[in-house]
Amino acid sequence: MPELTISGDYGDFKTVAEFYDCECEVDYIKHKQTNPTCDKCGASHDEAPDSRLNEVLELEYERRLIIDDEFEPCVRCGGGYDEMYFIDCDPVCADCITEKEKREEGYSDD
Ligand SMILES: [Zn+2]
Ligand SMILES: [Zn+2]
Repeated sequence: MPELTISGDYGDFKTVAEFYDCECEVDYIKHKQTNPTCDKCGASHDEAPDSRLNEVLELEYERRLIIDDEFEPCVRCGGGYDEMYFIDCDPVCADCITEKEKREEGYSDD
């Protein structure tokens, strides 16, 4: 989650300084630093309104879900996030893989 600075409080909603709303119908929340001008509608961050806090948070939440969906858990214990190995395309975590398998799959140097 990036740092968010409240730039305005309108009662019903707050705005954040780091994002702006471009004029696109979808994906209109843009990060000022990485995307100062929308390449689709041409809106620029110095003219566009700051994005609403709740919409930015929702977007970040959805992004996180998308990232989580891409994670394939270990086929043996259903966990493992740090170090994953692949045995015949099945993800296996560092706890479940055996030294023998590592060698067979070419993960071990010796
Ligand atoms: Zn746009
Ligand atoms: Zn495992």
